[in-house]
Amino acid sequence: MKCRECDEFLADYVSGELAADVLATFELHLSRCRNCRTYVEQYRLTIAAGKTACEAAKEAKGDMPEELIQAILAAARPVRDHSS
Ligand SMILES: [Zn+2]
Repeated sequence: MKCRECDEFLADYVSGELAADVLATFELHLSRCRNCRTYVEQYRLTIAAGKTACEAAKEAKGDMPEELIQAILAAARPVRDHSS
């Protein structure tokens, strides 16, 4: 598996929906590739940040402006390192 292929499986991996054989290949790649481990970590943080923003917006009962939520999500978006 190459780093580019990891991208395709990332969302399913994080949501736990990868087929067992793909999961094994994916995790093997992760164990060897620091870039992808970092990327998965950033992806998880982004999802967590998105959930936090949504929950904060609910708690504020719609008082939080949409632009602020989008700004939080944009700031948390992972930056891919394409150098390898
Ligand atoms: Zn990789």
